[in-house]
Amino acid sequence: MQMPHVAAFDDWDGPQQILVVLAHPDDPEFFCGATLARWTAAGHQVTYLLLTCGDKGTKDISLAGEKLCSLRQAEQKAAAAVLGVETVHFLNHPDGYLQADLNLRREITRVIRQVRPNILVTCDPTTYFLGDSHINHADHRAAGQAALDAVYPAARDHLYFPELWLEEKLEPHAVREVWICGTLSPSVSVDVTDTWEIKIQALREHKTQIGDPQALAERMRSRRTPGSSAQSPRYQETFRRIKLP
Ligand SMILES: [Zn+2]
Repeated sequence: MQMPHVAAFDDWDGPQQILVVLAHPDDPEFFCGATLARWTAAGHQVTYLLLTCGDKGTKDISLAGEKLCSLRQAEQKAAAAVLGVETVHFLNHPDGYLQADLNLRREITRVIRQVRPNILVTCDPTTYFLGDSHINHADHRAAGQAALDAVYPAARDHLYFPELWLEEKLEPHAVREVWICGTLSPSVSVDVTDTWEIKIQALREHKTQIGDPQALAERMRSRRTPGSSAQSPRYQETFRRIKLP
C-alpha cells in the first residue's frame, strides 16, 4: 500500500496512556501488535478493551461457548504480555453479534473515563472489504463505530450518560488522538521492522486461532513493506491518525 507520507509517529511528549478498543481476542496482535510492542518498549502504557469473548472463533465442534471464551481470554492475556501490555479488560459480548448501540457506547465510555487514555486505538467502521478476497467482520465495524462514538463526544462531555458522572463519579475525559487500524485510507505508516518478530511471537499465543504456528510465522514474514526485499525485509503497520482539537 502506498502511503502519502511516512510520519514520525512517536513524537509525543513523554509517556502516554494508550487504550486499544477492538472486537475479538487476537485483533490487537493481528491489526497492530508490532506497533503496540514498539510503544510499550518506548515506555508508553497500553491497556486493552476487548468487546467480545471470541466464542465463535472455531470450527472445532467440541469447543464452544464458555469453554472457548475462557481459553481465548487466557490466550489474549498471554499474547498481551508478550507485547508488554499488562491490563486487559473484557466486556464479553457474544462473538459475531456485536451492535454499536447505546449500551456498548456507554460501556466503552465508562472504560475511557476509568483508564483516561491520551491515545485510543480502534478499527475503521467504514471498511467493508479488504482487498479482493476479504469481507470485513461485522464485529470489527461495530467495534470501530462504538469506540469512535464513545471518544467523541460521549466520554468528553458530562451530559452524555450522566449516570457515569453522577453515580459512578467518573469525570469526563478528552482523548487527544485516535489511531484507526484496518483502514483503506491510512495517513501514517509505522515502520515496525524491529518488533515484527515480537508480533509473531504474540500471535503464537492464540493457539486456538492460528493453526500451524510455523506456517503462520512464514505467512507473516512474507508480508513485507512493498519495495523491501526478502534479504533485507522491512515491515509496516498503517493507521489513520486523527488528532482531536
Ligand atoms: Zn476480529
